[in-house]
This record gives sequence, C-alpha cells and structure tokens, in this order.
Amino acid sequence: GKADIECEMLVLGAGPGGYSGAFRAADLGMKTVLVERYETLGGVCLNVGCIPSKALLHTAAVIDEVSHLPDHGISFGTPKIDLDKLRGFKDGVIKKLTGGLAGMAKARKVEVVTGVGTFLDPHHLEVVSAGGKKTVKFKNAIIAAGSRAVKLPFLPEDPRIVDSTGALLLKSIPKRMLVIGGGIIGLEMATVYSTLGARIDVVEMLDGLMQGADRDLVKVWEKMNAKRFDKVMLKTKTVGAKATAAGIEVSFEGEQAPPAGPQLYDLVLVAVGRSPNGKKIGAEMAGVAVTDRGFIDVDKQMRTNVAHIFAIGDIIGQPMLAHKAVHEAHVAAEVSHGEKAYFDARQIPSVAYTDPEVAWAGKTEEQCKAEGIKIEKSVFPWAASGRAIANGRDEGFTKLLFDQASHRIIGGGIVGTHAGDLISEICLAVEMGCEPADIGKTIHPHPTLGESIGMAAEVFEGVCTDLP
Ligand code: FAD
Repeated sequence: GKADIECEMLVLGAGPGGYSGAFRAADLGMKTVLVERYETLGGVCLNVGCIPSKALLHTAAVIDEVSHLPDHGISFGTPKIDLDKLRGFKDGVIKKLTGGLAGMAKARKVEVVTGVGTFLDPHHLEVVSAGGKKTVKFKNAIIAAGSRAVKLPFLPEDPRIVDSTGALLLKSIPKRMLVIGGGIIGLEMATVYSTLGARIDVVEMLDGLMQGADRDLVKVWEKMNAKRFDKVMLKTKTVGAKATAAGIEVSFEGEQAPPAGPQLYDLVLVAVGRSPNGKKIGAEMAGVAVTDRGFIDVDKQMRTNVAHIFAIGDIIGQPMLAHKAVHEAHVAAEVSHGEKAYFDARQIPSVAYTDPEVAWAGKTEEQCKAEGIKIEKSVFPWAASGRAIANGRDEGFTKLLFDQASHRIIGGGIVGTHAGDLISEICLAVEMGCEPADIGKTIHPHPTLGESIGMAAEVFEGVCTDLP
C-alpha cells in the first residue's frame, strides 16, 4: 500500500532502548523514524522509572544521612516537607532530560512520530493518534515497546491502590502503606515513602527480599533497615482487598500473615513485576513470533525470527534494566547497518538505590553454586575502610568472586552507601577477565570507598592483612 513516510529504520517505542537504537541508526546514516505513543521521549525509565525514582531517592538519602549526624554532634530539626515543591523538583528533572532527548533526536534528523504503532505487515506500521492515522514503510525495524506493571486481578480499582507510576506521583504521604513485592522497585519506593514519614509493611511471596541479589549483601541491608518497616512478611501472599471509607483492608495468607487478620492501609503499592508489551503491537501481522507471556525471542544479534526486524530491551526478557536495553539497541542498529556486532555481555549490573545501596555484577555466589562453578571469594568489610568510618557508615562490605580454575573475576557485589556508583569497576574487571593482582595492584585513591575493591583483591592475594 501507499505509505505516508518511508524510512530505512523504524524504531517502535522511545524508551532508553528505542531512542538509543534510533540515535545509533541515524548516526550510521540511516533515515530513521521513531514512533512513541507518549508526548515525551524517554519511555518508562525517564518518565516513570529510573529517573524520577532517583530524584526522590536522592532527597530521601539526604534526609537519612542527616539523621545520622546527631552521632557527630550535629542536629537539625524535623524536616519540613513541601510535597508540591518536591514533586516539582522531580518533574523538573524529567523535563530537563526528556527535552534534552527531543533536541538530540532533532539534531540527528530522527523523525519522531507520536501515536500508537501497530504492524500491518513485515514492512508497514500504522500509527494512530488523536490527529489521525499515518502509515510508515520501513526497510528495517527495531521493536522497543518495553513493558508495563503487572496488575493483581483481585485488587479493586481504587485511587489508593497504585503501581510504581502512581507512587511516583507522590500525591500525599500516607500514614500506613503496604508495599506488595519486595523487589528493587518496591523497596526503592518504600525507602522514599518511609523517609517522608509513612509507616510501611512489605509483603513478599518468596523467602527473601531483593531476589537475584547475593544473600550476604541483602543481610546487611536487612539489618540496616530493620527499623524502617513495621512488618516485612516473607513467604506470604496478598489474597484480597476491600476498599472501605477507612482505608484499603488487605488480607494475607502464608507463613508470616498477621495473626490479627486483615490490615488497613491508606496506600497500597503493587510492585510485583513487569510484563512485556509483545502482544500489543500487532507483531503477528509482521510475522514476528511472540511467546505466551508476551516476550519476543531474539538471537545474539537482536534479530527476531523475521530477519530485518530486531527487538531489544524489556520486551525481550530479563533483566529488565535500562542499561541492558541501551547496549542491545546499539547492536541491533549496527547489525541492521551491516556490521558484525553482537551482544555478548559477561555481566549486566543491578543496583538497588536504597539505603544502604546494594549493587552486584556478574555471577552471584548462589548462581555459581547452582551452576557448579567452583569459586574463591574475598570479602573486604568496610569496618576496615578509613573512608567508610569517617563517613560514619561502615556497615557495608565489598565482595569479589574469582573462578577457581582460571583465577579470573566472575562477579562481585557491594552493599553500602554509593554501592551503585562503585560497582562499575567490578563490571569492567569482569568484562576484562581481571585476575586478583590486576585489581589489587591498581592504585586506588585513598581514602575512598572505591579502595575497598582494590583491598578485597589484595585480601585475596594475602597481601593486605592490617588495614588501613
Ligand atoms: P520502555 O522504557 O518501557 O519504553 C517503551 C516505550 O515504548 C514506552 O515509551 C511506550 O510508551 C512505547 N510503546 C509501547 N508500545 C507502543 C506502541 N504500540 N506504539 C507506540 N509506542 C509504544 N532500570 C534501570 O536500569 N535502573 C533503574 O534505576 C530503574 N528504575 C526503575 C524504576 C521504576 C519505578 C521502574 C518502573 C523501572 C525502573 N527501571 C530501572 C527499569 C527501566 O525503566 C526499564 O528497564 C527500561 O525503561 C526499559 O527500556 P525499554 O526501551 O525496553 O522500554
């Protein structure tokens, strides 16, 4: 059929995966169209994910930090919270970044088409908006349509029951809040709301919080957060909720369900995972196979079963993280341009931006055990770090895992303040296949938290015994 727009590269979805793929394709000289249903670029990450949550978490971290200062002889009063202003700060952060993206798209002559895209056939996509319909004819495509929050079907529709997007709106600070799901997103929002004054219960179906993280790291986090929450109910399910005038009355079932029965909350955050948008884009019309759960399978070059259509980001599977989407996007754009790129990451880091932060990269100890990989580990407690002690925050530790056969680092984790910023060195070490001496003999600046990575490697070498 006749098309309104023709291009070499069509990108569906303008999240971190989509805009990165579109920008790389345009930089490689391809005429590129980027289709997005929302008014702004940036997807979940910029608009309702990574960035707004970090704007609020930064604020929370400052309040938490100040709360440690009486031990140093400095006291402030109780924080006065102006929610409108805090919301305004967060919205300003989003605006700055989405505006920046629009400028970057323009500079590259990426044509942004606003509307909901649906494939018509393997070379056409229809975009529907309030303004009408447009058809885009494409040579290559990258599907970057992302994911959405999973809903619990038995919960009633009520403004007091929200997902992460609703929680980020920060309409008010509830007195009592329930967070359903003890994963990173749930715990980050719980950190924000508890610091702002909410009393919080967390309920998690599995036997531990922050699944996927090294259990030793999580133990320190749990100890430091023991007072933050009223109840953490593990191996427990939310089974029903009733909206009443007094609040949302939630019932639980499981090992740690409250014996007193249903509990009343002013706000319930559902953070039980994210579901891919694979079934919502007409993929079948393009011949692209979608799994039962809505994921799109790809090979190492990010190709779907249709050779000129690629898929990247949350829609292709776990871990659902922005930095994974970006790297996959670059591969897809480069391959469609004829380059021999492929995705071959040895590690994809994860960070919980809580207090303290928890970060890990490469394989965890649990994973090594499950996969039968023999490891040697090395732990450096921050109680021996001059900087951590000077910061008054020496609860953390840095852990490195080396493959016993090759002596190369295969993973590591950090729990402590700024762990998310510190983990990058471990990421690089894993990618480069460093041996303990490579890390331990690298001179790290003193006194820093980053030093703990060098020291962990030196501990392994048996060099460093009396620190600092
Ligand atoms: P998305 O960001 O989901 O973007 C997909 C885009 O496609 C959306 O803009 C959507 O509107 C658009 N779209 C979908 N279907 C259509 C259609 N048919 N037509 C037109 N447009 C369409 N990750 C991190 O790495 N670090 C973090 O700190 C972090 N924090 C998070 C906090 C929260 C609260 C949440 C919810 C997520 C967080 N994530 C974080 C995850 C991160 O946001 C995602 O991994 C990332 O956004 C995935 O990027 P993506 O490009 O695959 O898709």
